Amino acid sequence: MVAIDWSTRIALADQYCLAISQRKSAQEHRQLLRAALEGDIPLPESMSVLHPVFLPPGLQRNEIQGAERFARDQDTRNRCEAFRIWGVPCRFEDKNLHHPVQSDHWFPYSLGGPTEARNKLYLCKDHNAWKAANPYLFPWEQPQPKWLLGQLRKLHRSLDRLDPH
Ligand SMILES: [Zn+2]
Repeated sequence: MVAIDWSTRIALADQYCLAISQRKSAQEHRQLLRAALEGDIPLPESMSVLHPVFLPPGLQRNEIQGAERFARDQDTRNRCEAFRIWGVPCRFEDKNLHHPVQSDHWFPYSLGGPTEARNKLYLCKDHNAWKAANPYLFPWEQPQPKWLLGQLRKLHRSLDRLDPH
């Protein structure tokens, strides 16, 4: 059983929602990206930099995030990993016996999450539908995801290529 500090998680998710809601000019976005690369800003602000809404025209999302979906996983031994989000094991397994678990983006693709193994989570169809792209179900209270720095660097390189100034 994983003990989840929900009040911290919700407070950080609030910060994230605020950070993506505030309009940023291209210049402000670049400044925030540099600060995130230097580790000078809290996790919610660093993650907000990757939100697709801030990508400039001419930069495709898949250049930064990869394909929209994970390759179909044929491994039927995979189980629902609901406990990684909710801290309790899946209770839908008997009901979903005939539906294979789905590979999902732990940090949602629609929010800028990459399609790579370290951002992959197996969920049954009920938990996958429940999770959707809800930023409040991301484990903000845990250490920063290992893929974050690589994504920030990739974005930085792409922005430099489009506009070297
Ligand atoms: Zn489940």
